[in-house]
Amino acid sequence: MPRHLDVLIAGQGIAGSLLAYHLMARGLDVCIADPGAPDGTASRAAAGILSPYTGRRYKAPGELDAMLAECHSTYQSIARTIGVTVYHPQPIWRIVQRQPELTDIERRRHERPGRELISPVQHNGLPEGMRAPLGATRIDGGGQVDMETLLSGLRHWFMERESLIPEQLTAPAMTGPTGGALEWRGLRADVVVFCDGAAAFANPWWRGLPWRASRGETVDVEPARPDTWPRVIVTGGKSLVPMAPGRYRIGSTYDHASQAGAPTGEAQRTLLDALPGLTDGDPTARVVGARTGIRPGSRTGNPFTGFHPAAPRIGILNGLGSRGTLHAPWLARRLAERIVDGTPLPDHVDVAHLSGLPTR
Ligand SMILES: Cc1cc2nc3c(=O)[nH]c(=O)nc-3n(C[C@H](O)[C@H](O)[C@H](O)COP(=O)(O)OP(=O)(O)OC[C@H]3O[C@@H](n4cnc5c(N)ncnc54)[C@H](O)[C@@H]3O)c2cc1C
Repeated sequence: MPRHLDVLIAGQGIAGSLLAYHLMARGLDVCIADPGAPDGTASRAAAGILSPYTGRRYKAPGELDAMLAECHSTYQSIARTIGVTVYHPQPIWRIVQRQPELTDIERRRHERPGRELISPVQHNGLPEGMRAPLGATRIDGGGQVDMETLLSGLRHWFMERESLIPEQLTAPAMTGPTGGALEWRGLRADVVVFCDGAAAFANPWWRGLPWRASRGETVDVEPARPDTWPRVIVTGGKSLVPMAPGRYRIGSTYDHASQAGAPTGEAQRTLLDALPGLTDGDPTARVVGARTGIRPGSRTGNPFTGFHPAAPRIGILNGLGSRGTLHAPWLARRLAERIVDGTPLPDHVDVAHLSGLPTR
């Protein structure tokens, strides 16, 4: 008899990992397929910054309160499960780049929850080693997710439970996707959910969604004088994230390529050139690693989740763009509740409301 799964998931980035985690917590029999190639996936390239307010206009999603609460509970629950800390709550210091930002900061500070989470622009008492000639704001409520530890720890935990298959799952390799249970490699599943990141741009079920690809790179560096660099997360154009004693990740570049490819010298130069704008310490640093990935974004500005209108057993959790750490816990919880309890998804993220999807 083939093993009969409740849910089969394609992809073990942050989206697939958190969905599997929530479904397994509800007692479902779940398997994730992912070959586990470390290079080129967004989750492994990310700096892991979890900031409530991002972008030039300091924007936040409408469900910010609920998302932040879900981030704290999910990441802490995972840490208890795998026995390693994966989330480091801490303020994010954002350097003011240009005068017009002051208006955006004040606007957010007049809204909830911005007034509790964004400090007035400060010029004095800033963290040591930070460079902020126009001042900086302190953004609370977020922190940094150690993506590498989270993904490797959960991968090991899934494997121990025979819930990880180190292979690709492609749409053409499945049978029976519109009728009864789906079959793949001797497994049967009631539902298949694609969490395949940028690979979804070519997925026959999901390529018709309004995708926006954005390639990015990060570099890991060891400063010659770590004592002169800030020991906090600093953002402002680019970001500087303390990863371990004497080691930082600088992120990130943005371009429109749709293949991750290998790290480039040009991106490395761009990131190293940003250092004097982030720290007034000694910018001399040795590059010890470089990563690249495609942010799977959406032209609507909203992530994609739910089930295919023409194939109700085929699901998706994707389109996290540049905010995977903030969106993934909340979306994975919503999709798990939809699968287990039938709770409707919020309209703005539900793919059932998008037209133009192929019938395959
Ligand atoms: C340079 C860079 C920096 C970033 N920095 C941040 C940051 O600081 N904070 C933040 O919140 N976000 C950041 N992001 C965005 C964040 O990384 C993404 O939003 C998030 O990782 C997307 O996760 P995902 O699981 O959807 O996709 P991915 O992480 O790409 O995972 C997709 C997975 O699917 C697997 N897969 C693909 N096809 C198949 C298949 N056919 N079968 C089985 N498995 C398959 C892949 O192997 C991969 O493991 C950054 C992104 C980049 C590129």
